[in-house]
This record gives sequence, C-alpha cells and structure tokens, in this order.
Amino acid sequence: MQRGSSERELAARWEEEAVASDKAPAEQVLLDAGAAGEPERKTAEERCKDPARAQPRAAEEGDTRVAPRPPPTLRPKTKPAPARGLCPHGNPRSKGSSCKRCSGRRADQSCTLRPVTVDSSKARTSLDALKISIRQLKWKEFPFGRRSPCDIYWHGVSFHDNDILSGQVNKFPGMTEMVRKITLSRAVRIMQNLFPEEYNFYPCSWILPDEFQLFVAQGRMVKDGDPSWKPTFIVKPDGGCQGDGIYLIKDPSDIRLAGILQSRPAVVQEYICKPLLIDKLKFDIRLYVLLKSLDPLEIYIAKDGLSRFCTEPYQEPNPKNLHHVFMHLTNYSLNIHSSNFVHSDSTSTGSKRTFSSILCRLSSKGVDIKKVWSDIISLVIKTVIALTPELKVFYQSDIPVGRPGPTCFQILGFDILLMKNLKPMLLEVNANPSMRIEHEQELSPGVFENVPSLVDEEVKVAVIRDTLRLMDPLKKKRENQNCKLSSSSLSMASVDILYIDITRRWNSVTLDQRDSGMCLQAFIEACFYLAQRKFKMLPLHEQVASLIDLCEHHLSVLDERRLMCGRSGMSGGRAPYSGPPQEATPSAPLAEGNPTPCANSAHKLPHSRHTLS
Ligand code: ADP
Repeated sequence: MQRGSSERELAARWEEEAVASDKAPAEQVLLDAGAAGEPERKTAEERCKDPARAQPRAAEEGDTRVAPRPPPTLRPKTKPAPARGLCPHGNPRSKGSSCKRCSGRRADQSCTLRPVTVDSSKARTSLDALKISIRQLKWKEFPFGRRSPCDIYWHGVSFHDNDILSGQVNKFPGMTEMVRKITLSRAVRIMQNLFPEEYNFYPCSWILPDEFQLFVAQGRMVKDGDPSWKPTFIVKPDGGCQGDGIYLIKDPSDIRLAGILQSRPAVVQEYICKPLLIDKLKFDIRLYVLLKSLDPLEIYIAKDGLSRFCTEPYQEPNPKNLHHVFMHLTNYSLNIHSSNFVHSDSTSTGSKRTFSSILCRLSSKGVDIKKVWSDIISLVIKTVIALTPELKVFYQSDIPVGRPGPTCFQILGFDILLMKNLKPMLLEVNANPSMRIEHEQELSPGVFENVPSLVDEEVKVAVIRDTLRLMDPLKKKRENQNCKLSSSSLSMASVDILYIDITRRWNSVTLDQRDSGMCLQAFIEACFYLAQRKFKMLPLHEQVASLIDLCEHHLSVLDERRLMCGRSGMSGGRAPYSGPPQEATPSAPLAEGNPTPCANSAHKLPHSRHTLS
C-alpha cells in the first residue's frame, strides 16, 4: 500500500481558485484540513431560485442510510477504458504532473473549453442543491444519465449506485460500512489504544452485545475507585439514524438487551453530561468534510456547517428526565416535531443555525474560536486517519490498480458536540449527510408542506459547489491553457530583480561563495516565488506542480519549434538553433507573448541551471 508523505497527509491548505468557470458568485467554503484559520462565513450573494426546488420530493430528513453490503468482491469490468492511474497515453499519472505527451500537446488540441459534465441521475435528495451548484458553475448536468461517460457522477447513497468505469464519483466504496456506529467505534478504539491522548475526543464506547460484560466490569471498576461517579450512558443502535432507537440509561442493567440480542447490535457510550449551552439549549454541529483523495490523503473542511438545537431547556441527566428526547437529542428529525421548534429565515436564530453564527456569538463573549476551530480540524483529521486503512482495502478491492474505474471523493457529515469547556467531541460520521435544502412545515395540524430552508441552502449549496470546483477535472487544463507568466503582472524587470535579489541573498549565506549563479536553495525559492505569483490561489505544492507542468509544456513546444527550425535550416531556411536545448528552459514560460524580454531573461536564469547541473 503506498503512502503519501506525512506532510501531504496533513497538508495545510486554503484553496481559493479563480478558474474560468468561476464567474459565478462562488464564495469558497472548503478549508483544507490543516488550515486552522478562523472560519469566516460570507453571505451568499445570489440565491438561485431553482424551479426544481418547487417540486415536492419524497420526504427524507436527516441522513440516508443503506443496508450493509456484503464484503467487496472483484467486479468484472467489460468496457475498455483507460487503466486507472494512467493518462490516456498509457503513461503513469501521478498527482500534480501529467505525462510528457499530454503536457506537450498543443493547448488548442486538448484544452477546448467544454463544460464539465455531471451525471445527476442518482443524486436523489441532494439533487436540488446539486442542480443549483452545477448552474452556478455553468457546467452541464445530465439528469437522466448519458450514454457516453460523464466527468462526474453524483450518487445519493452509495458508490455502487451505478457501474462506472471512468470519471469521478462522489462516494468511496466501503464508506457507508466504515462509518456505521460499531465500525467507527472499533476504528477509533484501535487508535485510542495506540494514542490515548490524541484520540480522547471520542466518548468511551462498548459494542453490544459482544462487550456487555466488559462494559459492566469496567463501569464497576471505575465506580469502586470513585463512588461519587454517577455516569449516564447512551445506547445507539448500529446503523440507526435520526435518533432512531436511542435511549439513555444510568445503570448497565437498564440496557434493553433483549432487542439487541434479537436483531440490533448497538453501541453504548458514555453520555456527555456537560455540553455547551446556548440559550439554555443543547446543540450539536454538523460539519461537512470533503475527502478528496485517500492516497495521498487530502481532506477539506467546510468553513461553515449547521448547528442543530434541542427544543427543551437542558438539565443534566437524572432519572426523571432521561427520556426527554427534546432535551437530550439534537436530531433535527426529532425536534422538528416539538411545538418549540423555531423555523427561521435568519442564519443566526431558530432551531437550526449556521455554525459560523455560533462562532460569532462565542467570539463576542471572548471565546478563543481559533482554538475551537483548530481542535475541530484536528478531530476531523484524526478520525479520517483512523478510517483510512480499511477504506484503502475497500478501494483496492473494488477498483484494483490497473483496472478501469472511477476515482472517488466524498462529502462526509461530522456530528460534533462542544462540551462546556469548549472541547469538541465526535458523536458520529455520516457517509450520506442530508443535502436537502428544504424542510417540512406544518401548515395546519397534520398538513405538511416542503418549503425552502435558507440556512440549509446557504450552507449545503456552497459545500457541493466548492466540492465540484475542487474536483473539477478540467481545472488543470484550463490553467495550462491560460499559462502565461507575463499575464500575472510579473514584468521582466521584476524577474531580473528577483534573480539578483535571491541569488545575492543565498550566496551571502552559503559557505562557498565562489559559486556564481544560483545555488539549489535559491533556485527552489525562485521557483516557489514564481509558482505563487502565477498560480495565486492554489496550495503551494499544486502551485509548484503547475509551474513544472507549465515549463514542461513550453519546453515541448520549444522542442517542436526547434525541430522545425532545424529541418527548415537543413532545407536552406533559417539557421538551425545552435544552443544547448536546456539553455532557454527556465525562461521559456516567461517568454510567452513577450519575445523581447524573453531574450533578456534567458541570460539570467541559465545560471541556476548551471548550478543545478
Ligand atoms: P443518530 O445517527 O441516530 O443521529 P447520533 O450518534 O448522532 O445518532 O446521536 C443522536 C443524538 O444524540 C446526537 O445528535 C446528540 O444530540 C445525542 N448524543 C449522541 N451521543 C451522545 C453522547 N455520547 N453524549 C451526549 N449526547 C449524545
């Protein structure tokens, strides 16, 4: 199993792009998992009124679950398609670099600006938000599927909704299984055993019925050591959702073992008795996390999520209130049935609010929300790391290397509870977080209607849209097509100054000052600088990869030209190019559309090449 470097696994990035399709009012909401910055929520400038939203859809609140699938098997794939991990030329494709033949192709051959195509035929309840996102991006939706392949397939429930041989699909094989309550508890427990300090964000859990005796014994042991300990436990059926079948207990003997032994294994968990309250109410946080790639591990966290409120003032659990679901369970699907549930068009009031509005409020009370946010980010990363090994097994089993198949990404819903002391605790992970952007409203007793929910739309459309932007398969091509360093307002004079400045600085710190030209570190610094100037909004490693792609592209164009010059020279035309082929290498990109300064800069950068070679 190949591993990305640990740096990459925990790469800290904050990505904001401005690609051709991004003329839409796309505020970037996805924050790379390492960037522990203060989340800012920007107001959506435009709310699309999608006619599709007006059509009532099958009611489905909360998260969708599917029945467990048998272990993955090798599926025969019949249609010929380029092998995974290979470019269309059959050359190995690695992240951030394209094969020579690809990058050498002329822009007008390979990079025609066609819209990205999305098959939404299996999108189910995320369809409305998806439609809006696709329209904002000016991409092309195929609501009934398409005979020829699409770039992106959007599945409502599972990787296996459709047989796909290419493109990208928004589900990983095995994810639904991996985040079921029992599997998640097992995966986190392995890590808790290895790194107890790092994984103390997940409540102590036992799996029922297997660990019932252990649960009783451990409870007794703690109690013997501390008789004042009066814990509460929460029992949650495996594979349940929307609070279904959940109950609180004070004593292990209260576990309804009969049901568990019959059909429903469950997780019993330490109940977090002291949650942070707002307006005297318990609330939880639903955060959206994009798992962009497993290898290397790439995780993005949406800057905004939802906070779902209980509808009965909170009291610490006691035998009298244990069954008060509106006090203890924050599920929207339960609380919507409370007469205290408050629908609000504002994102900062009511029973469902944006997480950013909560942070704003906490910040105004002096809470260090950067710390809260960075704790949340680290919880997310560590949880995904706990799930990754088995996910890779599923992945390799379903899509073996060298077989045709799609690449995968997935939006996960993380349910997090903030404790009174502001420590975030993981409650669960949803493989299919609800992406519905409407809610049920009771018009008259027993008569419900689906109405748009502004808070859901604001958060979820942004999450889907920015996920699509991050997964845009044509992004690189668009960037390459527009690649002209001179267009990034970097004059040749600036390049001269950059060269002199960096060279002088590095030469003054290197031991051997006899070297003329750039040392390796100086060259790298110059590359980073140029990459940052050229590809402003990308994370650094993508900036550098893009710069290398760009250089390769220009090199191959240059090679072609030289070849042609050579031929024409031989046939009596212009004299063939006589300099060594690398001579113009680094300056080639600078030359685009600006022949004179190119000649100038060509004098400068070759120094670095000499030092490097
Ligand atoms: P479901 O998938 O059915 O929603 P959850 O694990 O999300 O199950 O639990 C439902 C609700 O119960 C949560 O939203 C939260 O309000 C509450 N809850 C779950 N686990 C705990 C816990 N350990 N401590 C306190 N509250 C909890």
